[in-house]
Amino acid sequence: MTDDVRDRTGGCYCGAVRFTARDVPLTFGICHCETCRRWTGSALLGVTVPADNITWEGEDHIARHQSSSFAERAWCSTCGSNLFFRFTGGGAPVGGVELPVGVLDDASDMVVHNEIFIDHKPDAYAFVPNDRQVLTRAQCAEKFPLLDRG
Ligand SMILES: [Zn+2]
Ligand SMILES: [Zn+2]
Repeated sequence: MTDDVRDRTGGCYCGAVRFTARDVPLTFGICHCETCRRWTGSALLGVTVPADNITWEGEDHIARHQSSSFAERAWCSTCGSNLFFRFTGGGAPVGGVELPVGVLDDASDMVVHNEIFIDHKPDAYAFVPNDRQVLTRAQCAEKFPLLDRG
């Protein structure tokens, strides 16, 4: 783990939505929960950034869906690229945004710090093991009670 941060740019694949994010951590997490699996088509590889650190361009093209009592998910309404998961309330730390690592222009220096809902991951694929923290759904519910409320 490192506390290092970098400013990064990114956007959807059609280019209608672009962003600049300040102080993006070098570490990101992987979530295998059912919602992330369906939303991404696989797993969410997400880096947490305060919403205020992100400047969006093309916001008219951002579509949003309230995916649970405490968060919304957003995508480009033109090309469908997933853009972010954002905490909206219900006891969650409001203001935190998860940016999918795949929408960053360059994530080559980033590393995984945890993998959650590991027991919801299909056996057909796995990420290369390293020293990251790995949690089951039950362990996540214990650590982050709101995750279990859906
Ligand atoms: Zn797009
Ligand atoms: Zn998830």
